[in-house]
Amino acid sequence: MTVKRIPIAILGATGAVGQRMIQLLANHPWFEIAVLTGSDRTIGRPYGELVRWILDDKPPAHIANMIVQPTDKVADVALALSALPTDAAKQYEPVWAAHTAVCSNASAYRMTADIPLVIPEVNPEHVNMIDDQRKQRGWRGALVTNPNCSVIGIAMALKPIYDAVGLTHVHAATLQAVSGAGYPGVASLDIIDNIVPNIANGTEEEKIETEPGKILGSYQVGSIHHATTRISAQVTRVPVIDGHTALLSVQSAQGITSEDAVRLYETWQAPALVRSLPSAPTQAIVLHTHPERPQPRRDRDLGNGMSVSVGRIRACTINELRMVVLSHNTIRGAAGGAILNAELLAATGYTSK
Ligand code: NAP
Repeated sequence: MTVKRIPIAILGATGAVGQRMIQLLANHPWFEIAVLTGSDRTIGRPYGELVRWILDDKPPAHIANMIVQPTDKVADVALALSALPTDAAKQYEPVWAAHTAVCSNASAYRMTADIPLVIPEVNPEHVNMIDDQRKQRGWRGALVTNPNCSVIGIAMALKPIYDAVGLTHVHAATLQAVSGAGYPGVASLDIIDNIVPNIANGTEEEKIETEPGKILGSYQVGSIHHATTRISAQVTRVPVIDGHTALLSVQSAQGITSEDAVRLYETWQAPALVRSLPSAPTQAIVLHTHPERPQPRRDRDLGNGMSVSVGRIRACTINELRMVVLSHNTIRGAAGGAILNAELLAATGYTSK
Protein backbone atom coordinates (compact mmCIF):
# COMPACT_ATOMS: atom_id res chain seq x y z
CA MET A 1 0.00 0.00 0.00
CA THR A 2 1.37 3.47 -0.87
CA VAL A 3 1.01 5.94 1.98
CA LYS A 4 0.32 9.54 0.92
CA ARG A 5 2.97 11.73 2.47
CA ILE A 6 2.53 15.35 3.59
CA PRO A 7 4.03 17.82 1.07
CA ILE A 8 6.44 20.26 2.70
CA ALA A 9 8.55 23.26 1.66
CA ILE A 10 12.10 24.07 2.78
CA LEU A 11 12.76 27.82 2.98
CA GLY A 12 16.47 28.61 2.55
CA ALA A 13 17.14 25.11 1.24
CA THR A 14 20.64 25.75 -0.13
CA GLY A 15 22.35 26.66 3.17
CA ALA A 16 24.08 24.47 5.78
CA VAL A 17 20.83 23.77 7.66
CA GLY A 18 18.69 23.43 4.51
CA GLN A 19 21.08 20.78 3.19
CA ARG A 20 20.82 18.82 6.45
CA MET A 21 17.02 18.99 6.18
CA ILE A 22 17.18 17.47 2.70
CA GLN A 23 19.54 14.76 3.93
CA LEU A 24 17.39 13.91 6.96
CA LEU A 25 14.13 13.89 4.96
CA ALA A 26 15.33 11.28 2.44
CA ASN A 27 12.91 8.35 2.96
CA HIS A 28 10.94 10.19 5.65
CA PRO A 29 7.77 8.15 6.41
CA TRP A 30 5.43 11.18 6.76
CA PHE A 31 6.91 14.07 4.76
CA GLU A 32 7.79 14.61 1.12
CA ILE A 33 9.79 17.63 -0.11
CA ALA A 34 7.58 19.50 -2.59
CA VAL A 35 9.20 22.99 -2.72
CA LEU A 36 12.70 24.39 -2.18
CA THR A 37 13.25 28.15 -1.86
CA GLY A 38 16.34 30.34 -2.00
CA SER A 39 17.53 33.91 -2.56
CA ASP A 40 18.08 35.81 -5.82
CA ARG A 41 21.37 33.88 -6.11
CA THR A 42 19.58 30.59 -6.80
CA ILE A 43 15.93 31.27 -7.76
CA GLY A 44 14.86 29.73 -11.10
CA ARG A 45 17.87 27.38 -11.34
CA PRO A 46 18.05 23.64 -10.64
CA TYR A 47 18.97 23.07 -6.97
CA GLY A 48 21.95 20.87 -7.82
CA GLU A 49 23.50 23.50 -10.07
CA LEU A 50 24.08 26.26 -7.52
CA VAL A 51 24.05 24.60 -4.10
CA ARG A 52 27.49 24.47 -2.47
CA TRP A 53 26.88 21.00 -1.01
CA ILE A 54 28.93 20.60 2.18
CA LEU A 55 27.79 17.16 3.38
CA ASP A 56 29.53 13.90 2.50
CA ASP A 57 26.88 12.37 0.24
CA LYS A 58 25.26 14.10 -2.78
CA PRO A 59 21.74 15.57 -2.85
CA PRO A 60 19.28 12.95 -4.20
CA ALA A 61 18.89 13.27 -8.01
CA HIS A 62 15.19 14.28 -7.88
CA ILE A 63 16.11 17.08 -5.42
CA ALA A 64 19.08 18.23 -7.53
CA ASN A 65 16.69 18.64 -10.48
CA MET A 66 14.09 20.69 -8.57
CA ILE A 67 13.91 24.37 -9.55
CA VAL A 68 14.58 26.74 -6.62
CA GLN A 69 11.49 28.89 -5.95
CA PRO A 70 11.27 32.46 -4.64
CA THR A 71 10.83 32.64 -0.85
CA ASP A 72 8.27 35.45 -1.14
CA LYS A 73 5.78 33.18 -2.97
CA VAL A 74 3.81 31.01 -0.53
CA ALA A 75 3.35 27.48 -1.87
CA ASP A 76 0.33 25.24 -1.32
CA VAL A 77 1.90 22.92 1.27
CA ALA A 78 0.80 21.84 4.75
CA LEU A 79 4.18 22.45 6.40
CA ALA A 80 7.29 24.56 5.81
CA LEU A 81 10.69 24.16 7.45
CA SER A 82 12.58 27.44 7.59
CA ALA A 83 16.39 27.63 7.42
CA LEU A 84 16.41 31.32 6.54
CA PRO A 85 18.84 33.87 7.98
CA THR A 86 17.32 36.14 10.66
CA ASP A 87 16.39 39.11 8.44
CA ALA A 88 14.78 36.98 5.74
CA ALA A 89 13.00 34.93 8.45
CA LYS A 90 11.61 38.12 9.98
CA GLN A 91 10.20 39.13 6.61
CA TYR A 92 8.93 35.83 5.17
CA GLU A 93 7.99 33.49 8.03
CA PRO A 94 4.79 35.37 9.06
CA VAL A 95 3.75 35.53 5.39
CA TRP A 96 4.01 31.72 5.15
CA ALA A 97 2.55 31.17 8.65
CA ALA A 98 -0.67 32.91 7.60
CA HIS A 99 -1.34 29.87 5.36
CA THR A 100 0.83 26.99 6.50
CA ALA A 101 2.52 25.61 9.62
CA VAL A 102 6.12 26.89 9.71
CA CYS A 103 8.84 25.28 11.85
CA SER A 104 11.74 27.70 12.01
CA ASN A 105 15.41 27.49 12.98
CA ALA A 106 15.90 31.23 12.88
CA SER A 107 16.13 33.41 15.97
CA ALA A 108 13.82 36.15 14.61
CA TYR A 109 10.65 35.10 16.54
CA ARG A 110 11.98 32.74 19.23
CA MET A 111 11.27 35.12 22.10
CA THR A 112 8.00 36.58 20.72
CA ALA A 113 5.29 35.98 23.34
CA ASP A 114 2.80 34.03 21.19
CA ILE A 115 5.38 32.01 19.23
CA PRO A 116 6.27 28.70 20.88
CA LEU A 117 9.97 27.86 21.31
CA VAL A 118 9.88 24.08 21.37
CA ILE A 119 12.05 21.06 22.07
CA PRO A 120 9.52 18.20 21.79
CA GLU A 121 11.13 16.15 24.60
CA VAL A 122 11.11 19.16 26.96
CA ASN A 123 8.02 21.33 26.37
CA PRO A 124 5.69 19.70 23.80
CA GLU A 125 2.63 21.29 25.49
CA HIS A 126 3.83 24.74 24.37
CA VAL A 127 2.49 23.99 20.86
CA ASN A 128 -0.97 24.67 22.32
CA MET A 129 0.05 28.32 22.07
CA ILE A 130 -0.81 27.92 18.36
CA ASP A 131 -4.53 28.19 19.25
CA ASP A 132 -3.88 31.65 20.76
CA GLN A 133 -1.61 32.59 17.84
CA ARG A 134 -4.30 31.71 15.30
CA LYS A 135 -6.95 33.64 17.23
CA GLN A 136 -4.79 36.75 17.67
CA ARG A 137 -3.22 36.85 14.21
CA GLY A 138 -5.99 35.32 12.10
CA TRP A 139 -3.56 32.74 10.72
CA ARG A 140 -4.63 29.42 9.20
CA GLY A 141 -1.10 28.16 9.63
CA ALA A 142 1.28 28.62 12.56
CA LEU A 143 4.82 29.58 13.53
CA VAL A 144 6.86 27.39 15.88
CA THR A 145 10.59 27.86 16.49
CA ASN A 146 13.39 25.66 17.72
CA PRO A 147 16.11 27.06 19.97
CA ASN A 148 19.65 28.22 19.32
CA CYS A 149 21.94 25.28 18.52
CA SER A 150 23.74 25.36 21.91
CA VAL A 151 20.52 25.93 23.83
CA ILE A 152 18.97 22.66 22.62
CA GLY A 153 21.64 20.55 24.37
CA ILE A 154 21.74 22.78 27.44
CA ALA A 155 17.94 22.91 27.93
CA MET A 156 17.60 19.14 27.44
CA ALA A 157 20.34 18.51 30.01
CA LEU A 158 18.76 20.92 32.51
CA LYS A 159 15.19 19.57 32.15
CA PRO A 160 15.44 16.49 34.45
CA ILE A 161 17.10 18.53 37.21
CA TYR A 162 14.75 21.49 36.78
CA ASP A 163 11.68 19.26 37.11
CA ALA A 164 13.07 17.35 40.12
CA VAL A 165 14.59 20.07 42.31
CA GLY A 166 14.36 23.42 40.46
CA LEU A 167 17.35 25.48 39.32
CA THR A 168 18.41 28.85 40.69
CA HIS A 169 21.42 29.53 38.45
CA VAL A 170 23.63 28.02 35.77
CA HIS A 171 26.99 28.96 34.27
CA ALA A 172 27.51 27.71 30.72
CA ALA A 173 30.79 27.84 28.76
CA THR A 174 30.49 26.58 25.19
CA LEU A 175 32.92 25.22 22.59
CA GLN A 176 31.01 25.58 19.34
CA ALA A 177 31.68 23.91 15.99
CA VAL A 178 32.37 25.88 12.80
CA SER A 179 29.31 24.51 10.96
CA GLY A 180 27.22 26.58 13.39
CA ALA A 181 28.20 29.66 11.39
CA GLY A 182 26.72 28.32 8.13
CA TYR A 183 28.60 28.36 4.83
CA PRO A 184 31.29 29.68 4.24
CA GLY A 185 31.31 30.59 7.95
CA VAL A 186 34.49 31.47 9.84
CA ALA A 187 37.57 32.13 7.69
CA SER A 188 40.06 29.24 7.90
CA LEU A 189 42.88 31.61 8.93
CA ASP A 190 40.77 32.66 11.94
CA ILE A 191 39.87 29.17 13.18
CA ILE A 192 42.60 26.63 12.29
CA ASP A 193 45.01 26.29 15.25
CA ASN A 194 42.85 28.77 17.15
CA ILE A 195 39.86 29.48 19.42
CA VAL A 196 37.69 32.57 18.95
CA PRO A 197 36.19 33.81 22.27
CA ASN A 198 33.01 35.38 20.88
CA ILE A 199 30.16 34.48 18.49
CA ALA A 200 27.84 36.94 16.77
CA ASN A 201 29.15 39.82 18.84
CA GLY A 202 27.67 38.75 22.16
CA THR A 203 24.21 37.87 20.84
CA GLU A 204 24.95 34.12 21.09
CA GLU A 205 25.52 34.52 24.83
CA GLU A 206 22.28 36.46 25.16
CA LYS A 207 20.37 33.59 23.47
CA ILE A 208 21.87 31.03 25.85
CA GLU A 209 20.96 33.25 28.80
CA THR A 210 17.32 33.84 27.77
CA GLU A 211 15.95 30.97 25.63
CA PRO A 212 16.10 28.19 28.29
CA GLY A 213 13.85 30.26 30.59
CA LYS A 214 11.09 30.24 27.96
CA ILE A 215 11.57 26.53 27.14
CA LEU A 216 11.54 25.41 30.80
CA GLY A 217 8.61 27.75 31.52
CA SER A 218 5.01 26.62 31.93
CA TYR A 219 2.22 27.08 29.38
CA GLN A 220 -1.03 28.48 30.70
CA VAL A 221 -3.76 29.35 28.21
CA GLY A 222 -2.63 32.45 26.35
CA SER A 223 0.87 32.75 27.82
CA ILE A 224 4.12 31.09 28.79
CA HIS A 225 5.48 31.83 32.27
CA HIS A 226 9.26 31.82 31.97
CA ALA A 227 11.42 29.92 34.45
CA THR A 228 13.35 32.28 36.72
CA THR A 229 16.68 30.37 36.53
CA ARG A 230 19.53 32.84 35.99
CA ILE A 231 22.07 31.83 33.34
CA SER A 232 25.52 33.26 32.62
CA ALA A 233 27.13 32.20 29.32
CA GLN A 234 30.58 32.46 27.73
CA VAL A 235 30.93 31.17 24.18
CA THR A 236 33.86 30.14 22.00
CA ARG A 237 34.21 28.95 18.40
CA VAL A 238 36.58 25.98 18.14
CA PRO A 239 38.10 24.06 15.18
CA VAL A 240 35.54 21.21 15.28
CA ILE A 241 33.34 20.67 12.19
CA ASP A 242 30.12 19.50 13.91
CA GLY A 243 29.10 19.18 17.57
CA HIS A 244 28.66 21.90 20.19
CA THR A 245 30.01 21.20 23.69
CA ALA A 246 28.74 23.03 26.77
CA LEU A 247 30.46 22.95 30.16
CA LEU A 248 27.79 23.57 32.81
CA SER A 249 27.99 24.47 36.48
CA VAL A 250 24.54 24.41 38.08
CA GLN A 251 22.91 25.27 41.38
CA SER A 252 19.55 23.69 42.17
CA ALA A 253 16.81 25.22 44.33
CA GLN A 254 16.20 22.26 46.65
CA GLY A 255 19.59 20.56 46.65
CA ILE A 256 20.90 17.59 44.64
CA THR A 257 24.00 15.37 44.81
CA SER A 258 25.90 14.17 41.76
CA GLU A 259 24.70 10.59 42.55
CA ASP A 260 21.07 11.80 42.50
CA ALA A 261 21.69 13.59 39.20
CA VAL A 262 23.17 10.44 37.64
CA ARG A 263 20.09 8.47 38.76
CA LEU A 264 17.83 11.12 37.24
CA TYR A 265 19.56 10.91 33.85
CA GLU A 266 19.52 7.10 33.96
CA THR A 267 15.74 7.01 34.28
CA TRP A 268 14.57 10.17 32.49
CA GLN A 269 12.45 9.70 29.37
CA ALA A 270 10.69 11.98 26.93
CA PRO A 271 6.86 11.85 26.88
CA ALA A 272 5.49 8.73 25.11
CA LEU A 273 3.95 10.70 22.22
CA VAL A 274 7.32 12.32 21.48
CA ARG A 275 9.18 9.00 21.68
CA SER A 276 6.85 7.67 18.98
CA LEU A 277 7.76 10.39 16.43
CA PRO A 278 9.82 9.11 13.45
CA SER A 279 12.88 11.31 14.14
CA ALA A 280 12.90 10.92 17.94
CA PRO A 281 15.99 9.06 19.16
CA THR A 282 15.48 5.95 21.29
CA GLN A 283 17.35 7.74 24.07
CA ALA A 284 16.96 11.53 24.10
CA ILE A 285 19.73 11.90 26.71
CA VAL A 286 22.68 9.51 26.65
CA LEU A 287 24.55 9.39 29.95
CA HIS A 288 28.33 8.83 29.66
CA THR A 289 30.30 7.36 32.56
CA HIS A 290 33.74 7.25 30.89
CA PRO A 291 35.82 10.14 32.32
CA GLU A 292 36.86 11.35 28.84
CA ARG A 293 33.42 11.45 27.21
CA PRO A 294 31.40 12.92 25.57
CA GLN A 295 33.59 14.02 22.66
CA PRO A 296 32.35 15.68 19.42
CA ARG A 297 33.99 13.26 16.97
CA ARG A 298 32.96 10.13 18.86
CA ASP A 299 29.53 11.03 20.25
CA ARG A 300 27.85 13.67 18.07
CA ASP A 301 26.15 11.06 15.84
CA LEU A 302 24.49 9.09 18.66
CA GLY A 303 20.80 8.53 17.93
CA ASN A 304 21.42 9.63 14.31
CA GLY A 305 22.63 12.97 15.67
CA MET A 306 19.42 13.49 17.70
CA SER A 307 20.60 12.31 21.14
CA VAL A 308 22.14 14.76 23.60
CA SER A 309 25.16 13.43 25.51
CA VAL A 310 25.73 14.24 29.18
CA GLY A 311 28.89 13.22 31.03
CA ARG A 312 31.41 14.05 33.75
CA ILE A 313 28.66 14.69 36.30
CA ARG A 314 30.40 15.63 39.53
CA ALA A 315 30.24 18.03 42.45
CA CYS A 316 31.20 21.64 41.78
CA THR A 317 33.35 23.66 44.18
CA ILE A 318 31.31 26.85 43.57
CA ASN A 319 27.82 25.62 42.63
CA GLU A 320 26.39 22.14 43.23
CA LEU A 321 27.07 20.19 40.05
CA ARG A 322 29.31 20.25 37.00
CA MET A 323 28.73 18.38 33.76
CA VAL A 324 29.66 18.27 30.08
CA VAL A 325 26.91 18.36 27.44
CA LEU A 326 27.33 17.61 23.73
CA SER A 327 24.84 17.90 20.87
CA HIS A 328 25.08 17.81 17.07
CA ASN A 329 24.49 21.44 16.11
CA THR A 330 23.20 21.05 12.55
CA ILE A 331 21.11 17.92 13.31
CA ARG A 332 19.71 18.10 16.87
CA GLY A 333 20.46 21.82 17.10
CA ALA A 334 18.91 22.80 13.78
CA ALA A 335 17.55 20.64 10.92
CA GLY A 336 16.61 17.58 13.01
CA GLY A 337 15.12 19.80 15.71
CA ALA A 338 12.87 21.55 13.17
CA ILE A 339 11.83 18.22 11.62
CA LEU A 340 10.96 16.82 15.08
CA ASN A 341 8.86 19.95 15.72
CA ALA A 342 7.11 19.39 12.38
CA GLU A 343 6.40 15.76 13.34
CA LEU A 344 4.99 16.97 16.67
CA LEU A 345 2.68 19.40 14.83
CA ALA A 346 1.55 16.62 12.47
CA ALA A 347 0.94 14.25 15.42
CA THR A 348 -1.05 16.87 17.37
CA GLY A 349 -3.14 18.05 14.40
CA TYR A 350 -1.53 21.48 14.05
CA THR A 351 -0.56 21.34 10.38
CA SER A 352 -2.69 23.59 8.18
CA LYS A 353 -4.34 20.82 6.13
P1 NAP B 1 23.40 29.65 5.48
O1 NAP B 1 24.29 28.49 5.25
O2 NAP B 1 23.95 31.01 5.36
O3 NAP B 1 22.11 29.52 4.50
C1 NAP B 1 21.14 30.54 4.37
C2 NAP B 1 20.02 30.12 3.41
O4 NAP B 1 19.06 31.16 3.32
C3 NAP B 1 20.47 29.83 1.99
O5 NAP B 1 19.61 28.85 1.45
C4 NAP B 1 20.21 31.16 1.25
O6 NAP B 1 19.89 30.99 -0.12
C5 NAP B 1 18.95 31.62 1.95
N1 NAP B 1 18.83 33.09 1.94
C6 NAP B 1 19.76 34.01 2.30
N2 NAP B 1 19.27 35.27 2.16
C7 NAP B 1 18.00 35.14 1.71
C8 NAP B 1 16.98 36.05 1.36
N3 NAP B 1 17.15 37.36 1.49
N4 NAP B 1 15.80 35.57 0.91
C9 NAP B 1 15.60 34.24 0.79
N5 NAP B 1 16.53 33.30 1.10
C10 NAP B 1 17.72 33.75 1.56
O7 NAP B 1 22.76 29.59 6.95
P2 NAP B 1 22.53 28.29 7.91
O8 NAP B 1 23.71 28.02 8.73
O9 NAP B 1 21.94 27.22 7.07
O10 NAP B 1 21.45 28.86 8.93
C11 NAP B 1 20.10 29.04 8.57
C12 NAP B 1 19.30 29.54 9.77
O11 NAP B 1 19.34 28.55 10.81
C13 NAP B 1 19.84 30.83 10.39
O12 NAP B 1 18.78 31.61 10.86
C14 NAP B 1 20.71 30.32 11.53
O13 NAP B 1 20.87 31.28 12.55
C15 NAP B 1 19.90 29.13 12.00
N6 NAP B 1 20.63 28.08 12.69
C16 NAP B 1 21.80 27.57 12.16
C17 NAP B 1 22.46 26.55 12.85
C18 NAP B 1 23.74 25.91 12.35
O14 NAP B 1 24.29 25.04 13.07
N7 NAP B 1 24.25 26.26 11.16
C19 NAP B 1 21.94 26.04 14.05
C20 NAP B 1 20.75 26.58 14.54
C21 NAP B 1 20.12 27.58 13.85
P3 NAP B 1 20.95 31.18 -1.34
O15 NAP B 1 21.94 30.07 -1.23
O16 NAP B 1 20.07 31.09 -2.51
O17 NAP B 1 21.60 32.52 -1.15
